[in-house]
Amino acid sequence: MVNLVLRTYSFVYKQLKDIIELIEQHKLTAEKYKTIEAFYEKKAEEKVACLAYFDAETGLPNRLHFTNQVEDYVQRFSKIRKHRKLAVLFIDLDRFKMINDTVGHYAGDIILKQLAKRIQGLLPKKSFLARFSGDKFTILITEDVDVEKIADIGQTLLHIIAKPIMYEAREFFLTGSIGVSFYPNDGITTELLFKHADTAMNLAKQQGGNKMKFYSTEMNQQVLYKLELEGYLRRALEKNEFHLCYQPLIDLASGEVYGSEALIRWEHPKLGLVSPGEFIPLAEETGLIHEIGKWVLKKACQENKKWHDLGYDYLAISVNVSANQFQQMSFIEVVKEALEETGLPPQYLTLELTEGVMLRNITHSVIVMKELQKLGVKVSIDDFGTGYSSLSYLKDLPINTLKIDRTFINNLKVNSTDIAIVKAIITMGHGLSVKVVAEGVETDEQIALLKELQCHYAQGFYIDRPMKSEAFEKGLAKLKAL
Ligand code: C2E
Ligand code: MG
Ligand code: MG
Repeated sequence: MVNLVLRTYSFVYKQLKDIIELIEQHKLTAEKYKTIEAFYEKKAEEKVACLAYFDAETGLPNRLHFTNQVEDYVQRFSKIRKHRKLAVLFIDLDRFKMINDTVGHYAGDIILKQLAKRIQGLLPKKSFLARFSGDKFTILITEDVDVEKIADIGQTLLHIIAKPIMYEAREFFLTGSIGVSFYPNDGITTELLFKHADTAMNLAKQQGGNKMKFYSTEMNQQVLYKLELEGYLRRALEKNEFHLCYQPLIDLASGEVYGSEALIRWEHPKLGLVSPGEFIPLAEETGLIHEIGKWVLKKACQENKKWHDLGYDYLAISVNVSANQFQQMSFIEVVKEALEETGLPPQYLTLELTEGVMLRNITHSVIVMKELQKLGVKVSIDDFGTGYSSLSYLKDLPINTLKIDRTFINNLKVNSTDIAIVKAIITMGHGLSVKVVAEGVETDEQIALLKELQCHYAQGFYIDRPMKSEAFEKGLAKLKAL
């Protein structure tokens, strides 16, 4: 009997000890959980909640959880006056049933788990992945949402889904169909966003799978056009579809042409004339800008040298340089090569950089700009006044020219607010001993005002439009004959 009591006592003691340890482990305070039952009740509740909100196989949030997350964001964004965008992606695996049928559901789940891990690894920040049902995954993207970015994410998703998956030394090949809807464009409720992403996904499936579709046809067209443009752009150089136009730059004091700005033009046989505003960003994104930029530099130097040889040896040429091109290590070499191969003296070449280009990596930019100055090449800040940067960096930058953005010049009239800005930039230019160019001059009133404000140089439709090299050359000859 004593033995039994002792044994029972020791059993109860051990149980209590375990429970105490458990409580300590979970740092539960006596105030929080008055009784042991409450503790277990809480644990059970957590487990139920976990089961209710997460998928047991993949550990991902489930449909309910995902719906709540989208709902939360929709509510939140609907209260922000400046519309923020959301993207909802529905991903359905093509012919996944075949995998289940051949290797069974257990293996199918393991394959899904691997896939979920892959997808999770490439999600942008502040986005949420869920297993919506069976072989359907969903993603909510909440930051930096625009059609092109989502198209890029979609392409990457299709690519990683299509990579072979190993299971028991066998390779399985899957593809996916992705449908996308955007808040607020395609719907302002969770229900509509889901419905439309689902419609788009089904369309992708109907068209053979391994595809991404946006709900709105307009967006599909936008993405298709971009893909088409990219394909054409890749072949534009070898097909000789680019040429340069030259827009005269005049000295306001004397009224004489002292040089020109080289502006690229792309003439595509099917698309017609594509503006640089459209294809330069794409060339940047795809890395094609290096080859294109190299071609522009060489062509512009070559043509300017030809004009020197024709007797216009005072002419300077300005060439636009984009961010990726300028940040590349070999950029200085590219400039040197263009000058050496064409024989243009460096002091006649000006490189136009925008504030954005320079400020992307200011330390590196200053080093490159100093190198350029050492070579004798000039540097100009293009579209000045549109950047968001502070002016304090200006005094440390080795630059020769400031080019006031055309938006200030276009509206320049007596008594306009822009006059104050233009005046301030010109005064600053004088203070920093750099030349100031006004671009986008369209009226004689603007010319008169700029002269009065002592702006050094001007460029714009009022003086001349950008023109092909032959026309520019003719203009020079005409001026000479005067
Ligand atoms: P940007 O360097 O600021 O070039 C000036 C733009 O203003 C040119 O447009 C020109 O045609 C336009 N423009 C000139 N005068 C006037 C005027 O009086 N009124 C108005 N409204 N516009 C005027 P474009 O040729 O379409 O070039 C647009 C931009 O594309 C350029 O702006 C430049 O940033 C970029 N770009 C052009 N060629 C090249 C290039 O070879 N390489 C790089 N990286 N970018 C280039
Ligand atoms: Mg320019
Ligand atoms: Mg400009």
